[in-house]
Amino acid sequence: VAFNAVEQAIDSLVRTEVRAINAYHVPPSTNMIKLDAMENPYGWPDDLRQAWLAKLAELSLNRYPDPSATELHQTLHRHLNLTSATGLLFGNGSDEIIQLLIMAVNKPDAKVMSIAPTFVMYDMIARFLGADYCSVPLDESFQLDVDSFITAMIEQQPALVFIAYPNNPTGNALSRQDVIRIIEAAPGLVVVDEAYHAFAEDSFVQDTCAYPNVLVMRTFSKVGLAGLRLGYLVGPVAWIEQIDKLRLPYNINTMTQASALVALAHWPILAEQALQICQDRAELAKQLAELPGVAVYPSAANFIVIRLDLAGPTATDVFEGLKAVGILIKNLSGQGGVLANCLRITVGSISENSQLLKGLAALLPSR
Ligand code: PMP
Repeated sequence: VAFNAVEQAIDSLVRTEVRAINAYHVPPSTNMIKLDAMENPYGWPDDLRQAWLAKLAELSLNRYPDPSATELHQTLHRHLNLTSATGLLFGNGSDEIIQLLIMAVNKPDAKVMSIAPTFVMYDMIARFLGADYCSVPLDESFQLDVDSFITAMIEQQPALVFIAYPNNPTGNALSRQDVIRIIEAAPGLVVVDEAYHAFAEDSFVQDTCAYPNVLVMRTFSKVGLAGLRLGYLVGPVAWIEQIDKLRLPYNINTMTQASALVALAHWPILAEQALQICQDRAELAKQLAELPGVAVYPSAANFIVIRLDLAGPTATDVFEGLKAVGILIKNLSGQGGVLANCLRITVGSISENSQLLKGLAALLPSR
């Protein structure tokens, strides 16, 4: 078939918005020090690994998985101390849950709203589904003017508001009081995305009982299980039942269900790793702040945003310079706006952090 004919068929059949989308790009990272994706740098210790392998050895894959992930469901419900009025839903990563949530409210003209910058998948998935997306910008210190946000909400009437708490890519969190103001003024559903909960001090899980319009989303990805692809949604049973109708059958595979159960049975090990990462975050922030021309932003997550001053190399130069010595971080400066000349660094192991600091020091002129 002629190439042109294929192009013509695509042009006439694929939605214009889909043709306009750039596919989500994941940079190659083989053999690099990987500090770009908020993963936990620590593998599982040997005893946990052995328990996991023993559990996997009991599984068989000729049957479909438990469609409701019953055992995982019950175990996590207990683990989170939820009441019987609160339900849970699992997704193939929280990305899938974002998709289910938008699908559920996506009437013609329905809007999805958040702050900017924030997690890109809210905007991308809204576009995949043909929903309108709007946002209110943060200022240069990554703070939100909550009054403006509420005014915009009243004007736009979004069916769904996402609040990443803490926020990615900025690392900070709104104050609890500000989130509550948004919840109370919202005309629709508010989803508090607690992907970075393990590194933060506060949570809205218990608040889902207190409001008719609040759900909380979390993920196993940042606490050492990014390879599993498991996220969950917490909220009033009636809400969860509606969203659950849109979940594809068997979205959580047999190995993920079993592996997550092993992780929950050994949770203190993962909690200890998260604590270690928080300590290392403080140390890394201190050392970054000592580098010439580097401003460090406060973080309640497992990553730190820095901004380079205009007198030295650009963020892109530094990003490329680190890549050339085998260190991968995230260059945020391409996103422009309040992220101009910003880089995002995931907190790694102690040795990875010190190699990063060495690499940065070599690229920044001493003053
Ligand atoms: N929410 C936020 C705020 C994130 O930063 C991420 C991942 N970067 C996710 C959700 C998605 O996590 P996952 O799909 O791995 O559960």
